[in-house]
Amino acid sequence: MASDILNLVGNTPLVEIRSVRLENGCRLFAKLEYFNPTGSHKDRIALYMVRGAIRRFGLKPGDYIVEASSGNTAISVAFVARRLGLKPVIVIPKSTSKEKVRILEFLGAEIMFGDEDPTSESYYIRIAESVARERNTVFLNQYANPDNALAHYETTAREIWEQMNGDIDAFVMGVGTGGTITGVGRFLKERRQGVKIVAVTPKGSKLAGGVGEDRIEGLLHKDVPPLLDRTVIDRVVEVSYREALEMALHLAREEGILAGISSGANIVGAIKISRELPKNSKIVTIIADSIFRYIEEVR
Ligand code: PMP
Repeated sequence: MASDILNLVGNTPLVEIRSVRLENGCRLFAKLEYFNPTGSHKDRIALYMVRGAIRRFGLKPGDYIVEASSGNTAISVAFVARRLGLKPVIVIPKSTSKEKVRILEFLGAEIMFGDEDPTSESYYIRIAESVARERNTVFLNQYANPDNALAHYETTAREIWEQMNGDIDAFVMGVGTGGTITGVGRFLKERRQGVKIVAVTPKGSKLAGGVGEDRIEGLLHKDVPPLLDRTVIDRVVEVSYREALEMALHLAREEGILAGISSGANIVGAIKISRELPKNSKIVTIIADSIFRYIEEVR
């Protein structure tokens, strides 16, 4: 029994993925972050960032709070802010999936749309900065907010460590803000020598040294955010949108795991990296959100 829905953020299950072929006798385990209250790993960071803002800036019930996001963080911030009595103002790129926009409306967030192109006048992050200034409040900015990585260091990573009894050889995660890979990567590197931290990125993304044409919602394809600690990353693996989508369908049909598309990419990344890992390695990855966020897109 929980006295508040916010107490149900985190403590998500970990399940072994048995239907994919890995090399070298590796085994793969996936943490199901869609078990969080709004359906993604971003509930964890929203809780840390909003509480952090309340503490540091003395926000009071009725105050605005601003965030920019491609969707999942927007929903999580709207959810946490409303629970804590704040008024969420959310700036999202025009390309954000319809499902996410509808959920934001449902949660009573004030929604603004911007461009995804950083050179544009109406770049969505720039809009968020100026709205926060006008409303005299905080722009959470998950792309640079240390509470983002800290949430994963203190909760996601600790849970994985306990669920695996410390027996983990590689962690594979798609990079959006870099919060998850930075937080989990730091935690694991402090505790386990030789653990491999593997970043998944869309084919030809900037992180992989390309120009960023292929796109997987939630993952960076152009700018690398300041929050990402590149020193924790041992390998970068490229995955195409097609491969990610096909794997999401496979996970639904063969595993009963209704994973979102970036999570399909994580599984493909794990398969690709298994070739390079020592025999019988245990790999952990994240199912960040569910296919319910992309129903229109995958029809
Ligand atoms: N998958 C999805 C669906 C996401 O929304 C995000 C975050 N943008 C990620 C993966 C990447 O997570 P992080 O921001 O922690 O790097």
